[in-house]
Amino acid sequence: MRNLASRLDLIAPSPTLALDAKAKALKAAGRDVISFGVGEPDFDTPEHIREAGVKAIRDGFTRYTPVDGLAELKEAVCEKFRRDNGLEYSPSQIVVSNGGKHSLYNIMLCLFQPGDEVIVPTPAWVSYGPLVTLAGAAPVLVKTTAESGYALTAAQLEAALSPRTRGLIINSPSNPTGLAYGPERLKELAALILKHQLWVVSDDIYEKIIFDDLQFCNLPMIEPALRGQTVIAHGVSKTYAMTGWRVGFLAGPEKVARSASKIQSQTTSNPCSISQKAALAALNGPQDTVAAMARAFQRRRDLLLKILAEIPGVSCVRPQGAFYAFPDFSAYFGKRAGETLIQGAEALADYLLDKAGAALAPGGGFGDGRSLRISYAVSDENLARGLTRVKAALADLK
Ligand code: PMP
Ligand code: GLU
Repeated sequence: MRNLASRLDLIAPSPTLALDAKAKALKAAGRDVISFGVGEPDFDTPEHIREAGVKAIRDGFTRYTPVDGLAELKEAVCEKFRRDNGLEYSPSQIVVSNGGKHSLYNIMLCLFQPGDEVIVPTPAWVSYGPLVTLAGAAPVLVKTTAESGYALTAAQLEAALSPRTRGLIINSPSNPTGLAYGPERLKELAALILKHQLWVVSDDIYEKIIFDDLQFCNLPMIEPALRGQTVIAHGVSKTYAMTGWRVGFLAGPEKVARSASKIQSQTTSNPCSISQKAALAALNGPQDTVAAMARAFQRRRDLLLKILAEIPGVSCVRPQGAFYAFPDFSAYFGKRAGETLIQGAEALADYLLDKAGAALAPGGGFGDGRSLRISYAVSDENLARGLTRVKAALADLK
């Protein structure tokens, strides 16, 4: 067979999805595995949303829709931004896609090209780098530190700028650290972003999962002057426990939205008609399940921090949102269990999967090899059981 396209050599498969597949395969083979690997709410999609999907099928709502989403769904998205964020968009500034990841891919294709650099503060979600790379641009990974709670500082941003810098990705609340940017930090960044006329990609997918009465904010809310150079990526996956339905959306300048729609018209056409009806019910329907899920995640965050605090040598920045923690396990690197040497995060993740039946995602894929990511979108019982097993397995390392 002839060689495949060289772009394939530039990216690896999503490590979080690969780990999830591995944990599921072990479970199917009868192993008692608790998966802290993939970031997916463990709740069912709320009943009224599922019913809307069923009704769409019964009504025969099974044909193509407009490429960029149903008119009423785009209206509902505009209303969401008005209601929640005080941001005014018209439907022509919205594109509904097959999940937040697809929205992000469309955004990268619209904004970035070969020769461009895009700043990605790390630790970061595993897909930003590959998405930028697939658009032909170069991700510039900028390491943040636990001292700033993993927030990008203005000084770090300034130091990373080059004449080629075209944009910046901000994800708050963050996957994998749980960091939620406050207005002060965003203001600091905003001044530089304006000065250098950078595109902002604001990934707000965890907006509704925020703790301790913190108020969500993003760059265009804090600095209205940035609205013309910001594209928000969002979706229903995390807010409404709808990961499998595949509905995401973007909001941004009309030119960007129309360009994303043009790409979509030649690649995927509209997202699933049935899922769009369900997403409409999600956005326009009662929102009480959203707050209930956020409360459950906060309770689990507290439980997780309590157990982690009992493990010697492990430190963890307190997550303020999403459903991830990113503890530093590097105190265990170089230790052994019998013949097994724990060289780093990958080896530790393998050891914990084997010894404790707990799947944690090694930090390398997120840009920090000292940590492992724990997704605590699991039941309280499994959280406690799984972490207790992790604690015992770590105690066996000498
Ligand atoms: N952004 C972040 C930070 C995520 O963690 C995810 C979850 N995979 C997404 C975007 C995309 O979510 P989805 O494609 O399932 O809507
Ligand atoms: N956001 C999830 C995670 O980080 C889903 C998996 C993925 O899309 O990478 O685990």
